[in-house]
Amino acid sequence: MPIFELQLKASLENTAKIQTSKGMFWKIRFACSSCHEMSAQYMEFNADEETDVGRGKANLASKCHFCGRVRSVLVMPKSEQAYVASEPPAFSTIIKFDCRGMEPVEYAPGEGWVVEAESGEVYLDVDLTECEWVDYDSRNQCPVGIYCLESQFQKE
Ligand SMILES: [Zn+2]
Repeated sequence: MPIFELQLKASLENTAKIQTSKGMFWKIRFACSSCHEMSAQYMEFNADEETDVGRGKANLASKCHFCGRVRSVLVMPKSEQAYVASEPPAFSTIIKFDCRGMEPVEYAPGEGWVVEAESGEVYLDVDLTECEWVDYDSRNQCPVGIYCLESQFQKE
C-alpha cells in the first residue's frame, strides 16, 4: 500500500524539537488516484477516530465527487517522530499515512504541537497555523521560536 511521509522543515530559535500530540488533527488536501481530481477543501482527521472501510479500519474515508471511488487514509501506528533542530534546516519525516486511492498534496499546519526548548522547558498546544511561533523561555531567559515552517509529502 502506498505510504506517504509528511515532512517538515523550519528554522528553530533556542528550540530543540517539535512533537505531535495524541489526537492531533491532520488537515490535508488530496488528489484522487483514479481521476486525479484535487479535493476542493482540506480534509481533517486524526488517529483516534476510526471508520470501517471494507474489511479494514481507516481514520478518513471519502468518496470522490468526480469518479465516485471510495478512498481512505490510515495514520500509520507509531509513525510519529519529533522534528529536531538542524543547521541548516532540512526536511524530516514527522508522521506517515497509508493512503488508498488518494494522494496527499498539501498540508495545513494546525494546533496541538508540543515544543521543547533547548533548556528543557515544554510548551503544550502550540499553534503553527501561521507557520511560525514565538515565546519566552524563563529557564534560559531567552526568546524561543519557530520560523518559516514548510511541509512536503514524500512517497515511501
Ligand atoms: Zn476520482
